[in-house]
Amino acid sequence: MPLQIVHHPGYDAGFAVNHRFPMSKYPLLMEHLRIRGLAAPQALSKPEPAPAAWLKLAHAADYVDQVIACAVPERIEREIGFPVGPRVSLRAQLATAGTVLAARLALRHGIACNAAGGSHHARRAQGAGFCTFNDVAVASLALLAEGGVENVLIVDLDVHQGDGTADILKDEPRAFTFSMHGERNYPARKIASDLDVALPDGTGDDAYLERLAAILPDLSGQRHWDIVFYNAGVDVHAEDRLGRLALTDGGLRAREDMVIGHFRNRGVPLCGVIGGGYSTDVPILAARHAMLFEVAAGYA
Ligand SMILES: [Zn+2]
Repeated sequence: MPLQIVHHPGYDAGFAVNHRFPMSKYPLLMEHLRIRGLAAPQALSKPEPAPAAWLKLAHAADYVDQVIACAVPERIEREIGFPVGPRVSLRAQLATAGTVLAARLALRHGIACNAAGGSHHARRAQGAGFCTFNDVAVASLALLAEGGVENVLIVDLDVHQGDGTADILKDEPRAFTFSMHGERNYPARKIASDLDVALPDGTGDDAYLERLAAILPDLSGQRHWDIVFYNAGVDVHAEDRLGRLALTDGGLRAREDMVIGHFRNRGVPLCGVIGGGYSTDVPILAARHAMLFEVAAGYA
């Protein structure tokens, strides 16, 4: 079966090419997947913007209203890293709905990926760190609220700690948050996940994969998980501009295979989101993000 992929052209908010946030990675990722025959038209889904009611499950109502009205206070826009104009606002609503849709497809097909998402620094009260809405937290709470799932696991392997997800889900016992990240990286003030593993600068493939291999059985053994959200941030790569770890292409691919294989071999539905990745060479960056889809396709 082809891999279920969720995408929308509006994921690209059209930033200038020299912007610190490499917005053009979204269309380039889809182009990369199309060229490799991974974006089967019959398995491509397009989200509608997320209804405010979903967003308010995870975020303060006044912040949601501010984003939708493009009236986010400047102080918060500075923390996010860009102004929230109409395209950024729409993009945040689309990308969040994309993860909800991918999660539903994962429940039906076993595995699905959103070609965006992983905005894990957005906290309940506001966005931060290039993240406007926290798509994985919204999707977790939306699925729990509609009764489609009872236990949700979040495996966040972006190089940055998943502070926003931890903040939003800290009082939700049905969701378990796991973050493995670079110890000395953003955010300076981390918010404790249910399980955090902080790695030293320069951690390479072997130490990284060994650590992960030891943790995955503990995670899957805890409970019967109805779904796992996997944030496959590629900023762990040695050539990432913001990461401080030292994974190679081979290490990254082995990571995707380890995580996806672990949960799929146990029958746990998996929803993949792309997470962070920062490089001035955006085609190479898009190829790095494509590894999630290439590996996931082998389990579809
Ligand atoms: Zn990151």
